[in-house]
Amino acid sequence: MAATKIAVAGIGKIARDQHLPAIARSGAFELAAAISRNERVEGVENFTDIQAFLRNRPDVAAVSLCAPPRPRLQMAVSALEAGRHVLLEKPPGATVGEVEALVALARKKGVVLFATWHSRFASCVEPARRWLSGKTIRHVEIVWKEDVRRWHPGQAWIWEAGGFGVFDPGINALSILTAIAPPVFVTDATLEVPENCQTPIAAQLTMRGVTGFEVTADFDWRQEGPQTWEIRVDTDAGLLVLADGGSRMSIDGEQRPGGLEAEYDGIYARFAGLLASGESDVDLAPLKLVSDAFMIGRTVDVDAFHD
Ligand code: NAP
Repeated sequence: MAATKIAVAGIGKIARDQHLPAIARSGAFELAAAISRNERVEGVENFTDIQAFLRNRPDVAAVSLCAPPRPRLQMAVSALEAGRHVLLEKPPGATVGEVEALVALARKKGVVLFATWHSRFASCVEPARRWLSGKTIRHVEIVWKEDVRRWHPGQAWIWEAGGFGVFDPGINALSILTAIAPPVFVTDATLEVPENCQTPIAAQLTMRGVTGFEVTADFDWRQEGPQTWEIRVDTDAGLLVLADGGSRMSIDGEQRPGGLEAEYDGIYARFAGLLASGESDVDLAPLKLVSDAFMIGRTVDVDAFHD
């Protein structure tokens, strides 16, 4: 089968680190264009705005949107209106309502919308989901602590309203949690917001599972030295620990093998499958948890942040 022509919009860190290499490795897609105001991709046609791309390249069936969530919305609306299939980087939008509107638009236009959660494709997430299936969860502890200066140097948008702050990485933990455990809801949240920013640099959440277990989550962007991306699930059959963002797993301290490490290859394989079946895949559960944390969270002012 011929590869589907795809364009990537918002050429920044994640587009260059992951999307362009994954598309180049994928037999299912062929990079046909790039859309970015300031960046260019060698070897393909470049556009500085999505309208010009949509007018000039009707042959490109799919668009991968890698801009930050706020500017991404208008790109998604334009692409769907033009009848293109759309892949959204995480988080799929800045609000739950706008993503629901995108789902409705994709359905109306008969195209595929794929809201990706890359952490769900980490190698041990599916094995963890399988191991937990049928077991009773007693407690979950999420510790997601990283150094914002190391992972998001110079990114102003993460500190602006709608930029998610520490929930930008934290939502990855929530995307794993909502893939491996029964549904949860937020019961309490504290948001630590630097006095010169609009979004939190740290947050502590408590959640409750519908089956009664409690979840605590500690998100912090001020961690220097070793970085921690860990989910500890205490069950009636032992303690499952997912470490390194879902790429390592142990049960009662014993390491267990995962699958292949292929987060973005997995994403593009899944997108190809969705295009073949004509189905969309949009799970809003992680975004709703973040939205609810902002809704009921107590805000605490903390020291100003300087990059
Ligand atoms: P980034 O490095 O800031 O790149 C985003 C690109 O989007 C920018 O280079 C910019 O390119 C374009 N853009 C268009 N409108 C923009 C606007 N109003 N403000 C800022 N940029 C705009 O960000 P990123 O780290 O790649 O993150 C993008 C998305 O990927 C986010 O949703 C993030 O959560 C997700 N993600 C990031 C990582 C990571 O490790 N960084 C990992 C997984 C997922 P032009 O100026 O050329 O238009």
